[in-house]
Amino acid sequence: MSRAVFLDRDETLNRADSLPAPAPPARPGDVTDPDLIELLPGVSRACSRLRAAGLRLIVYSNQGVVARGGLDLRGVERINDRIRELLPAGTIDAFYVCPYHPAGHLPRWTREHPWRKPGSGMITAAAAEMGLDLRESWAVGDKPRDIESAIAAGIPPDRCLGIGGDAGLADLASAADAILARNSPGTARGATVRLRALHGSPLADVRTRATVIAAAGSIAERTGVRLVAVSADDRSITVTIDADRLAGLGFLAELRRNTNAWFASRHTGLSLWGEAVEDGP
Ligand SMILES: [Mg+2]
Repeated sequence: MSRAVFLDRDETLNRADSLPAPAPPARPGDVTDPDLIELLPGVSRACSRLRAAGLRLIVYSNQGVVARGGLDLRGVERINDRIRELLPAGTIDAFYVCPYHPAGHLPRWTREHPWRKPGSGMITAAAAEMGLDLRESWAVGDKPRDIESAIAAGIPPDRCLGIGGDAGLADLASAADAILARNSPGTARGATVRLRALHGSPLADVRTRATVIAAAGSIAERTGVRLVAVSADDRSITVTIDADRLAGLGFLAELRRNTNAWFASRHTGLSLWGEAVEDGP
């Protein structure tokens, strides 16, 4: 079975929010003009590196603009074709698009649909059609719904990478680094350290788990530490960095401080983590 990286499209591969506002009924953020398509920095090289590592690249994109009447399906294909043109030939294996939206204007497309993120339908359809092993696949997107969709489809949460937000990785290039670090067997070295939750199983909550994993990526990015592996269960997060144990303890201290503050702001001052740090694996 093949392994894949599922890629959100707008603001993951190409600019969308910063484009000139399209004519109504399309809304700002909708991408309707192929001539305005511009890839985000580093996207082309990141896609090439992932492809070279034997991963299939599949775009999964909500396009509620179709239901709103701002663009028809052929128009969406023209946008996708333009993205293909801007990437090295053969980079993208397939585009999956969901034209449905519950608050659309065109009756044909106006309803909820299992393909619409955070639903898992686009990913599970691609897996069935292309023979993909979702347990060994990855997903990258700039919105929580991209991550929720991938987790719902059965991609392990620590393989679902948020980019572009406050707590996530910076961009697709950083996500590709994280994927390739874990994708190549034999690269695991350095320090493995673990934080354990103070109470209960807080990481059973998808959003908490995704935020903690994304925070680890963000700290690595900011500090220049290379993250070799990150995994989480309901009660703990385990991080391997390409550095010594002392650096590992420093990394966890920063992760604890950062995510405790986030958690406390949502759970009336409760701490997520205790002081204890365990050595891995
Ligand atoms: Mg997006």
